[in-house]
Formats: sequence, C-alpha cells, structure tokens
Amino acid sequence: MSGIELSKRQEAILAIVKTYGPITGKEIADRLNLSRAALRPDLAILTMSGLLGARPRVGYYLTGKEPADVIAGVLGSVKVAQALSQPVAVRDTSSVYDTIVTMFVEDVGTIIVVSEGGFLEGVASRKDMLKAAMTGKNINKMPVSVSMTRMPNIVVTHPEEHVLQAAQKLLSHQVDALPVVVSVKTDSGEKLQVVGRFTKTNITRLFVQLAGK
Ligand code: ADP
Repeated sequence: MSGIELSKRQEAILAIVKTYGPITGKEIADRLNLSRAALRPDLAILTMSGLLGARPRVGYYLTGKEPADVIAGVLGSVKVAQALSQPVAVRDTSSVYDTIVTMFVEDVGTIIVVSEGGFLEGVASRKDMLKAAMTGKNINKMPVSVSMTRMPNIVVTHPEEHVLQAAQKLLSHQVDALPVVVSVKTDSGEKLQVVGRFTKTNITRLFVQLAGK
C-alpha cells in the first residue's frame, strides 16, 4: 500500500467493514473486543480520511477510495491560505549583511525582498547570501538586490491556490519557498503584494496534521 500509514487496528477495522459492512460502530467494537469509546478515534480518522463512509442507522461502509486518492483529494482541496506562514521580508535597500542577520533572527532560509508598500521585488536564499559573502567585498555596503533573484523571475503562489499545485511549483522549480501574493492595482500598474510565504515546512506540517498527530 502506498501513502497513508494505517495502524494495525485501523487495518482490522477496514477488514471487518469489508466483510460485514454496512456495520454499526457497536458491532465493529464487539468483533474487536473493544469498547465503542476506544474505537471512536480510529473510526474518526478513517471517515475523515475518506476511506470509510458512515450513514446514520445503517453503519460504516467502504467508500472504495484508495489511500493515494485520499491524499490527492485532501491536498487538492486545502488552500495555501490554510497552510501558509507569515512573510519574513526585508526592504530592497537593505544590505546583504542585514539580510543574513534577518535569516538568523527569524530562523528562515529564504528572505522575501520588498519595495516600499510591501510589493514583491525579489527572493534571497541562503546560497545567494553565501555567494555574495564569498566575493570578499564589504557586505555591509552591498545591497541585497545585487545578489537576489528578482522579478519577473519569481515563482509565486496565492492564498486561493490549492496546496498540491503550490507543492508542485516548489518541486518543479527546485526552490524551498514561494512568496504568497495578491495582485493589487497601483498608480504605477498592477503589483504583487506579499501576504505570506509557503515552504516545504508548511507541507510537512500539513502532512503531520492530516495524520492526526
Ligand atoms: P538555496 O539557494 O539556499 O539552495 P533555494 O533552492 O530556495 O535555496 O534557491 C535556489 C535559487 O533559486 C536561489 O538563487 C534563489 O534566489 C532562487 N529562488 C528561491 N526561491 C525562489 C522563487 N520562489 N522563485 C524564483 N527563484 C527562487
């Protein structure tokens, strides 16, 4: 089986439902020599994950969904807005030195670089900053904008995008983080306002949450 790792007890419940379903929670509990209360968390996980269906007065039945369908279904329905982190940003006028300090203080590997008003200008990664430091020039005087990746080459996501699509962007562009942006109209045209960041850590956290841990 690929995807979701089920406990022995959850596997046993699925096997009982497969043979005897539709079957009530009480009957499943009796077959496993457990109390109805002891079984409740497992039944909740199995119904939430979409593997089991439940109908009042009828009982539990198998939905026929594979674990892989369930994962695709969940990641395809959760939006970036539900999983994002607060943005960590510096102004485009900041030095490479200050950007590195911000990386340490905020404990992030990717800094978003913004213009006045919080509009997206670029992204500075750990290696971008290392490269700048390795030139041997004074990084206190070097603006971050000379060693960042800049617009329009930034891969972004937006709050309404599904987590699965944002995760695919992280993989296909081989980056650790995406700025989360919304488009706003300004006097100097359409700009991207930074409202968050979406990283590999957000996906890991979501994954652990979905497993009910
Ligand atoms: P690192 O460089 O520390 O390995 P990344 O893999 O995230 O970190 O970054 C690789 C390169 O891609 C860097 O030069 C960085 O500026 C750039 N980069 C990072 N995130 C993005 C993004 N969302 N869109 C475009 N370029 C990015």
